[in-house]
Amino acid sequence: MMEEWKVKGVDIYKKHAFDCRCGRHHTMPVGKVVIGPDVARTLPTQLEALGMTGKGMLVTDAVVYQVLGEALLAQWQEEDLAVSVYTLPEGSRSDERALGNILCHLSEDTGFLISLGGGMVTDTVRYLASRMGLPCVAIPSAMTMDGFFTNMSVIIIDDLQKTHYLDYPTLILADTAIIASAPPRMNAAGIGEVVSKISAAIDWYSGKMVKDLYYCEAVEAMMASCIEKGASQETAEGIAVGNPVAVGRLTDALYRSAVAMAWYGSSPCGSGAEHQLNHYWVMCQENRGIPQSMHGQMVGVGAVVNLKLWQYILALDEGTFDIQKALDSMWGERKWQEGIRRVYGTGAEEIFDVQRDNHSFDPVVRQQEIHRILEALPALREKAAALPNADTIARWLAIAGAPRTPKELGITEEELMDSLYYAKESRAGRYNALWIIEALGLLPEVSARLCREMGYRE
Ligand SMILES: [Zn+2]
Ligand SMILES: [Zn+2]
Repeated sequence: MMEEWKVKGVDIYKKHAFDCRCGRHHTMPVGKVVIGPDVARTLPTQLEALGMTGKGMLVTDAVVYQVLGEALLAQWQEEDLAVSVYTLPEGSRSDERALGNILCHLSEDTGFLISLGGGMVTDTVRYLASRMGLPCVAIPSAMTMDGFFTNMSVIIIDDLQKTHYLDYPTLILADTAIIASAPPRMNAAGIGEVVSKISAAIDWYSGKMVKDLYYCEAVEAMMASCIEKGASQETAEGIAVGNPVAVGRLTDALYRSAVAMAWYGSSPCGSGAEHQLNHYWVMCQENRGIPQSMHGQMVGVGAVVNLKLWQYILALDEGTFDIQKALDSMWGERKWQEGIRRVYGTGAEEIFDVQRDNHSFDPVVRQQEIHRILEALPALREKAAALPNADTIARWLAIAGAPRTPKELGITEEELMDSLYYAKESRAGRYNALWIIEALGLLPEVSARLCREMGYRE
């Protein structure tokens, strides 16, 4: 696929746009991305090249400032860059308080913001910069996820954690020397994010095959190059020991994932059932007040689970599958609503709204869906055969130092079971292995089998 399909004349590391063979116009609005060792210190020249003048404000946290920020700042100032600094208090979250803190420390003549840190700092600065109409420079201190290269920030407002769609950064300096010095478990989470693109790829393709969701081969090829670069034993081994070359591959892989999603215009091409399981498990961890795992850790485990589901689905025999049995086991709307109320509590009404036109309980509709799934199985098998399987990615996660089972995330057997039944309900317009397993009437059997394979039962 990669060799066959190349986007001609496009430098993916700069803002770009092109008319695609799929019929759509694709854009990547990020200003410029530089990946490599010691690129953070080139900030003054990069700003000059982009025509960005005026005074900047560096926002970071206390630990990162001490380890990296102070020295970087001195280097920039030596090159006459006008820049002030604000260090977020320890224990800050991406919420109103952090936003207010930064705002109160801005001087009137601040022309742009620079974030130096992990997801929390980057998300908060991007949010504030977008709301104030200021350009934003991002310098990630660890490569835990692909969010550094997107326009999305997870911000807590009124105690509610939500994803906000904002402006893309004007400049991203992904300094592989800095990232390589981060605790290895953080970059190992980045490996989790990369392998999540494998299960997402099959989910996305199933959406095309069964639900006619929009699909694009250029996006697919870009996502394939992300997987090729970032998902390998060699990269996993390098990440475990902070090898800068492996860090470079991981960083480039995650940037490519962001490019693919920007082209597509939304996330289904890089976010399948494993991301929905992640959202559900975050809710479980919050409800029980246990420490939250990193996004990349969660979606990496989610990818192992999702690829196991695909293994079960693709092993079915479309010739002898008992369609009537699947239809007989179908739930009515009331039973489904009871389940949603039990697991989502006060959030249940929102789910009913989301699924009003999406989740059908009509046996005729279900029968058509089953037919289309069975017809799609050979093509899906071919797609999956070209990608690493669940056992392989579990091995890479372990080598990198990332969790690979829900148990390691503190998720209980009951929560895993419930997530297989209900995690998919938080979104409409998506399609994935969880929907297919329900449509085929396999949820009881598959969830029991998965709990055994994930070490909950003997
Ligand atoms: Zn396209
Ligand atoms: Zn993700």
